[in-house]
Amino acid sequence: MQRTRGIVRYPGGMLKRDYTTQYCSMAATLEIIGERWTILIVRDVFLGIRRFDDLQRSLGVARNILQTRLERLVEHGILRKKAYQEHPVRYEYRLTSKGADLWPVLMSLLQWGDRYAIDGERPVIVEHRGCGGELDDRRRCVLCGADVSVTEALAVRTGARRAPSGATVPA
Ligand SMILES: [Zn+2]
Repeated sequence: MQRTRGIVRYPGGMLKRDYTTQYCSMAATLEIIGERWTILIVRDVFLGIRRFDDLQRSLGVARNILQTRLERLVEHGILRKKAYQEHPVRYEYRLTSKGADLWPVLMSLLQWGDRYAIDGERPVIVEHRGCGGELDDRRRCVLCGADVSVTEALAVRTGARRAPSGATVPA
């Protein structure tokens, strides 16, 4: 961190606190996961993408930003680093139980987005693993009625893609 004419700058694009006047649990949560890219990094780790290069490829984010966000998530105890190679030592990122508790948040964002934020076929459907039923808005399987935990859920890509910009709807 360096000071330039009274402005505090954080290395790697880390932001200072955004909501200093708020004593609010939502604001406090957004201080942790509300930075650009952070929730998508958490999403990818939920999907089983755990290594730096794989996350970088999946997200297409600048490496310094990814590095900063990952460090922040580790500092906050949402992710933990686990060595998967010794010489040289390389780490992958795993969810802690605190991180896994973000699953309902991610599901709510996904389902709200399905309903209001995307225009067209859903790109991802979350199913009850081994059963195939979709999850409702309480993360309950619509086929068998089970309450589905994160480890019993399976995200399935439908293959739907964003329509090319400028595309017109056939008359
Ligand atoms: Zn089911």
